[in-house]
Amino acid sequence: MVETIPPRSGTAFTLDRGQTLTVIDPEGKQVADLLAFSRNDLREVISSGRTLDYASRLYLTTGDPLYSNRSNVMLRIVEDTVGRHDFLLTPCSKDTFRIIYGDTDPHRGCFGNLAAAFAPYGVTEDDIPVAFNCFMNVPIDGLTGSFTVEPPLSGPGDHIRFTAEMDLIIGLTACSALQSNGGAFKPIQYRID
Ligand SMILES: [Zn+2]
Repeated sequence: MVETIPPRSGTAFTLDRGQTLTVIDPEGKQVADLLAFSRNDLREVISSGRTLDYASRLYLTTGDPLYSNRSNVMLRIVEDTVGRHDFLLTPCSKDTFRIIYGDTDPHRGCFGNLAAAFAPYGVTEDDIPVAFNCFMNVPIDGLTGSFTVEPPLSGPGDHIRFTAEMDLIIGLTACSALQSNGGAFKPIQYRID
């Protein structure tokens, strides 16, 4: 069954070892932040640093594992129709909108949405690391290291599929930042098989 995450919101759910999670961009050019915690020990969490270190590459796609802070594989990308995602930048937050956008009454962003969705599982704000940002397009200048946030390369129906290699709690959003989403907020869909 396909579930829909409304624009600028988020959710959390369990994913069992062996199950697959498909994250779908139904309208195109919409980012979804994905987080994973081990269900057996919430201190084991998805790690951008470990994953990128072992991949020796900033852009991950089909076949690449996503590691935890304890160097265990949490998820593996088994299908990817886009080929451009980000694993460098933190979830957008109240402070993102205050500092980058100059908003005076900022939205709580993916960070606030994830914290609220994870709260029933016992995960707190300070536990939230860098998310795997499905469909987020962050081209990087290889010489200077400078980067920009550009509209996603995803079109309607594009998707990325992960297999769980341990029992997980997943957090997933329809990202709330204008810049990341080509200037419009759209829903995200997902399916568990
Ligand atoms: Zn966001």
